[in-house]
Amino acid sequence: MLQRFIDLHLHSSASDGRYPPARLIEMAHARGLSAVALTDHDTTAGLAEAARRAAELNLEFIPGIELEAAHPRGTLHILGYFIDPNSPALQSLAARAIESRTTRNEAILEKLAAEGLHLAMSDLTNDLPANAEPLTTGFNEQNGSHPAPSELSNLKSDIQSSMSQSPDRHIAKSPDRQIAKSIGRPHIAHALVRTHQVKDFRTAFTDYLADGAKCFVPLNLPTAETVLSAITTAHGLASLAHPVRLNCESSLELRTLAKRLREAGLRAIETIHPSHTPAQTVDYEKLAAELKLSATGGSDFHRLPPKQGHGIGFGRVKVPYELLIPLRRLHPFTCVSF
Ligand code: AMP
Ligand code: MN
Ligand code: MN
Ligand code: MN
Repeated sequence: MLQRFIDLHLHSSASDGRYPPARLIEMAHARGLSAVALTDHDTTAGLAEAARRAAELNLEFIPGIELEAAHPRGTLHILGYFIDPNSPALQSLAARAIESRTTRNEAILEKLAAEGLHLAMSDLTNDLPANAEPLTTGFNEQNGSHPAPSELSNLKSDIQSSMSQSPDRHIAKSPDRQIAKSIGRPHIAHALVRTHQVKDFRTAFTDYLADGAKCFVPLNLPTAETVLSAITTAHGLASLAHPVRLNCESSLELRTLAKRLREAGLRAIETIHPSHTPAQTVDYEKLAAELKLSATGGSDFHRLPPKQGHGIGFGRVKVPYELLIPLRRLHPFTCVSF
């Protein structure tokens, strides 16, 4: 039987992804994906545009965000799904995160200047031509062209009929306020390359920007509890992103941390991610089942090859649609207004 696939971890140019939200949705649609979530770092700025394009293409869309929390080593990223982008708790957390990014970006630019590399804050942009990449690159089936298992088709038809009855409910309304895009180290790396001060993106990280490198400056981060509480208040479902990057020393340490996070509102673990080996995916699935947490998965897509760097997946990982069913049960398709 032909399987349907989803991708619950995508970045757009609202944070450090290469493509604007609508373009990203078109690419997901061209790849035959059946549902996607946009999970930009620290911002909901891309959600309205993505939701609108997804509704036009009849592609199931889940509004999301990726937030970072303090952790003694490695990185603790938490994905929020089905979030209400109007939630004041979420918006105030995101605004604080963007503020600490600005402070940190300024500090990184000072350190770079001390190394003889000169950039202004206005150089840190992500505005790339929308038609930079071809839309079709040899994909599988289009949405809905094959019979799905009955549970899937029921769910899908519920969603489609609710969309066609009241399309506006699912189409993002323009926000009154301007939501800030999230600017980070990848923008600095690109600016260094664009201004011919560093030869490529990878070198910009290894020589200057990577954790612990010469010009690295840590972000001022909230606790995991604060992040989880904001996601929960925004009616979201929180998933622990790419647990391998926590750099836990033992499975006991990871289990203890996951239990602590569950107490604070964690509801899922990202089991499928390009940085996980197949064996790690199985381990994380076992942990999720043991702790009665759901599983999520995605490519962490930022850009296509040949650009080097993180998150060039988008299809390298395969996430079956079935993962979405228990999440949808917890968060039945509800109106998302922007
Ligand atoms: P920031 O959120 O500003 O700390 O930047 C983190 C982002 O930079 C990650 O999401 C990746 O996209 C990218 N990144 C982090 N470390 C590296 C690295 N060593 N090489 C390439 N990209 C990296
Ligand atoms: Mn990123
Ligand atoms: Mn991450
Ligand atoms: Mn990510």
